[in-house]
Amino acid sequence: MDVRMLKIILKKLRGRYGTRLHTRLKHRNMTELFVAVLLSPQCNDNQVNNVTKSLFKKYTTLEDYANADLGRLQKDLSGLNYYRTKARNLKEAAKRLGLNFNGRIPKSIAEMVSLRGVGRKVANVVLNEGYGINEGIAIDTHCTRVSGRLHIPGGREKNPVRIEQWLMENADRKEWGGISNLFIALGRDTCRPRKECDRCVLRNVCPSSNAMDKR
Ligand code: SF4
Repeated sequence: MDVRMLKIILKKLRGRYGTRLHTRLKHRNMTELFVAVLLSPQCNDNQVNNVTKSLFKKYTTLEDYANADLGRLQKDLSGLNYYRTKARNLKEAAKRLGLNFNGRIPKSIAEMVSLRGVGRKVANVVLNEGYGINEGIAIDTHCTRVSGRLHIPGGREKNPVRIEQWLMENADRKEWGGISNLFIALGRDTCRPRKECDRCVLRNVCPSSNAMDKR
């Protein structure tokens, strides 16, 4: 993979999936976005949306999470994998946001990852989706799988840090948030664990394509 090929791939993906892709996690404001993304690891979007549908009616502010009874919050999150840990993380993160960030979701990765349970991927999604800030590129399991098949450095070793680093070095900064969403769209469409190269928009340029018309 080189810069020229990356440009070709992104152009094809934009042509297929558009330029206005967003997270499928339902939210109406920054607090809800933060909570939904924080709860999303190891879960699919539907699972999270099912839980947040009632959660967001009960808890409307960060203080509500900070002051929540932990047992009660765990029960409210019980439809999610790792709900006990996630409830603890959410309560602690909300407390810290109140104490150290004036009750606002911070705008940098360094500040975001200082919150309990927040890693680089969560930080990148919240910053890009919520504020339009491109400080890094969120690499989830779809992005990792797609990167491996496209032979992006770090992809075949399933190393999200290396994938993100290479993409940041080789793509225009304004595209960073879009790359993540485009790779996710591809990973949900044709480049699933069981790939469907025959109908993939990248079938003629992808090094892992098994489509009949591969050049
Ligand atoms: S051609 Fe096949 S392996 Fe390559 S991105 Fe498309 S679905 Fe994935």
